[in-house]
Amino acid sequence: MADIGASRVEMPQLLSSALWHKTGRVQTMGSELYRFKDRRDAELILAPTHEEEVTKLIGSDIESHKALPVRVYQVGRKFRDEPRPRAGLLRTKEFLMKDMYSFDMDVTSAKEAYQAVRGAYANIFNRLFDWSFLPQLPHSGPAWREAEADTGSMGGSFSHEFHVEDPIGEDTLLSCDSCSYAANVECAASLASPEQRATSLDQVAVGLYAAADDPACAVAMVYPARATLNPLALARYAGPVWSASTPERVRVVCDSAVEAHDDVLEHAVQRALAEHGAAPVRTTEPSRTMIRTAQVGDHCAECRTGRLEEHRAMEIGHTFLLGARYSEALGYAVVPAGRNQREPLQMGCYGIGVTRILGALAQRAMQTYAQVNPAAAQGKRARAGLVWPTAVAPYVALVLPAIPHTPQKMQAAERLCALLDRGVEPAWRDARADCLTSIRVPAAEIAVDDRPDRSLGSCLFDAELVGYPLVFLLGKHWEKTGEVEVRRIGHATQYATFEGVCPT
Ligand SMILES: [Zn+2]
Repeated sequence: MADIGASRVEMPQLLSSALWHKTGRVQTMGSELYRFKDRRDAELILAPTHEEEVTKLIGSDIESHKALPVRVYQVGRKFRDEPRPRAGLLRTKEFLMKDMYSFDMDVTSAKEAYQAVRGAYANIFNRLFDWSFLPQLPHSGPAWREAEADTGSMGGSFSHEFHVEDPIGEDTLLSCDSCSYAANVECAASLASPEQRATSLDQVAVGLYAAADDPACAVAMVYPARATLNPLALARYAGPVWSASTPERVRVVCDSAVEAHDDVLEHAVQRALAEHGAAPVRTTEPSRTMIRTAQVGDHCAECRTGRLEEHRAMEIGHTFLLGARYSEALGYAVVPAGRNQREPLQMGCYGIGVTRILGALAQRAMQTYAQVNPAAAQGKRARAGLVWPTAVAPYVALVLPAIPHTPQKMQAAERLCALLDRGVEPAWRDARADCLTSIRVPAAEIAVDDRPDRSLGSCLFDAELVGYPLVFLLGKHWEKTGEVEVRRIGHATQYATFEGVCPT
């Protein structure tokens, strides 16, 4: 975050609803928003996100274009009254989120900020989802994906989601098997397959809806009968299903895969009107765009040669180029250089779901354990374990003095911790290519399991559950030879002596 000029802030979780009424999000977020009254009858909410607050915080402080750009971020708790909390950490009513906001004077620099954050987030996800230290793992596609997405209740002009593939995920992604195109199925673009193209009356479906902006106008959505109408496209062009009698006007929106002649289209629309009990009505020239939902096997709209594949995925991050959606609603503007009119601040917002990432990482860490230890993970006495990427392991190393905890052994364990903290070159019994020539683990990253009431077996069992990448065991072998048993995930057990860590 420092590399892209972002400063850390902390905003409250208990908020007045006043700003949220101004932006209209009290209505759009609806029952997902925790709302309640305090003793003075003032309405409060628990923050589900912070666009309103941060716009006020930064906007009220900026008096000149010279103060821009500004980027701030925080890591904090958020609350949403989810109707269906599920899958452990995947969907919860309270969660930890890292959210960032950018403020710029114009659209060009706002877009630059957006691209810089996408790059920074890619770096973060590359580090988080990195199991490359286990070269023996079968290659299983990219660790995470970026996909074009809908802006939803956040508003704004464009947006990307970050996903990890997981069967328990709630999103469906379509990605091209030939180029890098990927999008949420909600908004994926595609070229229709030959079977989907509609050229005759019986291949065309028509939905009749009310126009959101004109009560006397109906909207006819025309799409191939073999496809489904995209709900987002429907929301963009029309309102609820047409229920009145004969409309005064009919606006025609036609899917790009409908290749029927205009007369056939007209016929299909009049047929739909008749089915609704309406009299024939003059229609407008059809506007053509993609209104069907993209499907597996469709040709990619980007490279036009690849085919779309489907993936089940879990969303771990979302970025939005917001434009002036919030600054305009809340009235924060400044005068750009060389002009005399105030213009609203251009914003972006960027979220990473920390709680959810922990869930996604744990899923992967568990699968990785089973891949690395196939024998341990199967059978009657199957053990569970976690293999974390180094950047997120709860501790990097465990020093485990087995019982009995003689003073000598405990001193040796202490000495080993000090050596690891300082950096040490172990003397390996069998120097192999995969032996670490030097090891350095900061003291804060070393755990010592000195529970006096636990057998060695139970300590090792717990060590696999916690998922320490490195375990240093002082047990029977150390008592006899002075060699420490070094267990490293994905490698055979090794023995090494460390200076001053021997029984005397
Ligand atoms: Zn493609």
